[in-house]
Formats: sequence, C-alpha cells, structure tokens
Amino acid sequence: MLRSHDLEDYYLKTYTCQCGNTLYFANSLCLNCQRPVGFLSDIQVISSCDINAQGQWIATANGRAYRQCRNYSESNICNWLIPQEKNQTLCDSCELTVTIPDLSKNENKKLWFRMEQAKRHLLYTLNKLHLPVVGKREAADGMSFRFLEDQEEAIFGRELTVKNTVITGHSDGVITINLKEAEETKRLEMREMMNERYRTLIGHFRHESGHYYWDKLVKNSKHLDDFRALFGDERLNYQQSLSRYYAEGPAQDWYQHCISAYASMHPWEDWAETWAHYLHMVDTLETANEYEASLENKAISNPLIEEYPYSPSFNEKTFDTLLDDWDKLTTLLNALNRSMGLDDAYPFVLTPPAREKLHFIHLLVRES
Ligand SMILES: [Zn+2]
Ligand SMILES: [Zn+2]
Ligand SMILES: [Zn+2]
Repeated sequence: MLRSHDLEDYYLKTYTCQCGNTLYFANSLCLNCQRPVGFLSDIQVISSCDINAQGQWIATANGRAYRQCRNYSESNICNWLIPQEKNQTLCDSCELTVTIPDLSKNENKKLWFRMEQAKRHLLYTLNKLHLPVVGKREAADGMSFRFLEDQEEAIFGRELTVKNTVITGHSDGVITINLKEAEETKRLEMREMMNERYRTLIGHFRHESGHYYWDKLVKNSKHLDDFRALFGDERLNYQQSLSRYYAEGPAQDWYQHCISAYASMHPWEDWAETWAHYLHMVDTLETANEYEASLENKAISNPLIEEYPYSPSFNEKTFDTLLDDWDKLTTLLNALNRSMGLDDAYPFVLTPPAREKLHFIHLLVRES
C-alpha cells in the first residue's frame, strides 16, 4: 500500500539473490544469506556479491569485479558499486553531488541518505530511458546537485536573526534541493501551506530534472515551436509570473490545461510538472510490470524495457498503451489507498491537453 508521501521508498525492479531471496534496489545486504549486495550502475542491476581474497566484490549477476562507492564503504548512504577497472572513488550517482549537508549535525546524515536515495531512483529511470546523464566534471553544461539547509544567522551585537531560505530549483544544470524536503513532517507542512495534494522527495528530483532536460531537448532544438504551441511561450517574464502566482494563486481554469496548479505558473513549470508525471508514470508502470500485475486480464506493459523501433506510428501505439495502463493502474491504486483510509497515491486528473503534453514529452524522450 502506498502513502503518497512514501512513494520514494518503494522500488522498481527487483532481482533474485543466488540464494533465491528477492533483492530490492535499495538493499545493501541479502537478509536471507547475508551476502553483501550492491547496485551495478554499469548494467543497472542490483546484485548480491562474493568478496574475494583481494577485497573485490564479485557480482553474481555477471561474475565481474566491482568495488564499493566511497559513500557506501565510509558513510553507508549509498549502495552503488563501481566496476573495478574504473578510476573513480565515488559512484556515478554520488559524483553528481557537489554540496552535501553539514554532517556535524547528527540528523543530517539521515536526510543526506534520503536525498541520495531519491537521486539514485531518478537516475535509474533516466538511464533506463537512455537520457544523457552527464556530470559537471565531464562537461560545463552537465548536471549537478546541491543539498542545502536554511541558515539562521544572529547578527552580532543586535537582536536580529537573518534567515537565508534555500529555494529548491534548477539553474544552468545545478539542481538545488532544500534539505528540509527530506523531513516528512516539514514536507507535509509545506504541502499544506502550498495547498498541494502531492509532495514527495522523488517528485522534486523529477520536476527539477525536467528543467535540465528542457535545456537539452527543447531549448535549441527544432521542437521549440511545437513546445510553445502546447505549453505556451517561455519568453514570458518568469519573475513576474512567479510573483503573480504567489500573490493571486493559480489561474482559475488551470485544471483544464495543466496537470497541476503550479504548472499554470509559467510554461517552464508546466513542462517540468508534466515531465515529472511522465517519470512517475513510466517508473510506476515498470514496478507494476515487475510484479506481474495485470488488469482486465492484460499484463501491465513495461515502458522501460521494451525496445521499440523508432517510427512515429509505433510511438503513437506505445503511448496509447502506456496511458491506458496508467489510467487503470492509478484508478486501482487510489481505490486501494482509500480502502485503507490513506491519501490518493496519484491525486491528478489527466485532461486531453495534459495528455497531449505528455505525448510530446514521450516523443522527445524516445527520439533522444
Ligand atoms: Zn541471498
Ligand atoms: Zn555512491
Ligand atoms: Zn520548477
């Protein structure tokens, strides 16, 4: 059963340990045979391992040698493994984090772990979709992450406290997430304050990655006019739109055109919100497929595994199947949650314009 704010704790594809036990994406130990477990980032598979005399981790999934990411061996906040021949101490996910929280505060390690876990979840889906994931170390326009905390500073000699609030957002490849989003009570508080029905850590990562991929897939591409026709003209003054949104609230008829109220703020936010929904959809469908779920006697299709030949008509068909499965699955998911007295896992309605926007994103992702 999913609580909407717990979605990030539930995982995707599972694998079987050589002892027969099921392994999950976030595992670092097989609870049945006590073998160490790690995620093989080069082949996107979670695997149990045997440690040889040289201290190398030999993965049972492919028989190859790996070593632990430094954040795995030293801090236990990561469970990814690095192929032995690669010359790096941090895994491909931890490498992307340029600012970690202040670990002199006890509670921050747990929050950092949650941040990294949500990031790994995002990267898993991006990799499965074959979207380019390039770090700042490899390219100036690459992607990086900062996990920052609000700062309170007392001004010496005066009874004044200055508060620097961290704004979650994206700028030029740098994704900043406010650390308090990793605290459930604070996130719920924010959710109430913003009058939202869904707010999760993975949701933030998916949304902000949308801004990054807008720069990559739309900004200087032949798709810019199509983007504007669907989402609106992004040259609209962003700061003014933002101020208006917080002063006056969302456009009254937002639900007719947009996937969420916030999406109606500016075309860039509409894109990022829709992008996040696309990732929610493909990831959750993959999980359902992995558990061999079927609805109306039809197996849920797996949008992350099947390789489709690229042709427009084929994409139409796969997209229709995807949306169809998503409608049925979310209806069931919400009904199950209601039976348990929980919030809807997916409290959204996909209107025809929102579906069209999702289709646009689907085609761009396929093309990339
Ligand atoms: Zn085992
Ligand atoms: Zn790592
Ligand atoms: Zn945004």
